[in-house]
Amino acid sequence: MFGRDNKSQFTAAKEHMLRRDLKGRDIRDPRVLAVMTKVPREEFVPESHRDQAYSDGPLPIGMDQTISQPYIVALMTQELRVNNDCEVLEIGTGSGYQTAVLSKLAKKVYTVERFAELSQSAQAVLTRLGIGNVEFYVGDGSAGWPASRLPSSGCFDRIMLTAAVPQIPKPLTEPLVDGGIIIAPVGYSGVQELIICEKKVDRFIERAICDVRFVKLRGKYGFES
Ligand code: SAH
Repeated sequence: MFGRDNKSQFTAAKEHMLRRDLKGRDIRDPRVLAVMTKVPREEFVPESHRDQAYSDGPLPIGMDQTISQPYIVALMTQELRVNNDCEVLEIGTGSGYQTAVLSKLAKKVYTVERFAELSQSAQAVLTRLGIGNVEFYVGDGSAGWPASRLPSSGCFDRIMLTAAVPQIPKPLTEPLVDGGIIIAPVGYSGVQELIICEKKVDRFIERAICDVRFVKLRGKYGFES
């Protein structure tokens, strides 16, 4: 077992993950690789699973939810093409790991979680890591971000869903800027297609990336609660 302070073991496990699971697959964006090096995944997993923090898979985070596999976090981040001018909306805060990764590349991240308990613990970790460009909201993310708290531009440049949806919820496509990108696991069964969707004036250009397995987004425009 790795102790909380056993930094060198986490560093070795993280380097192994970067080499084998990210660079060894198709993660090429140097900014994404740098961020995946920086963010300590061990801080986002429960004590009981900390020794598996850099294993190649999801892990339980309580409330029947999971922190995503590191490769999928890196892949979704790479495909979303986030830069430091971007206002990013994330649906499904969970542990806050993906939020932290996005926050290091974006201007600001707005993240929604339906369980207050998960949102609060993610907030505590991000505060401890000194991350200040994230706004949290507890509610049904399938219905979008509250209108009264939108960025001053009134829209988002990028949107990431980290829970599966039957189709991309309409309340999420509306506040997406022209030229903006949404990434989401889409499908009815246990296996979904990871879809990337670019808004071009009045239409969406969609591309499927790969098959993925995510927990369901429960809410008005997601799956039944
Ligand atoms: N990105 C997260 C993965 C979280 S799993 C991480 O790296 O840890 C998906 C999350 O979506 C869960 O925490 C779940 O509670 C949340 N979720 C499900 N339905 C939701 C909804 N309608 N609105 C907001 N969050 C939702």
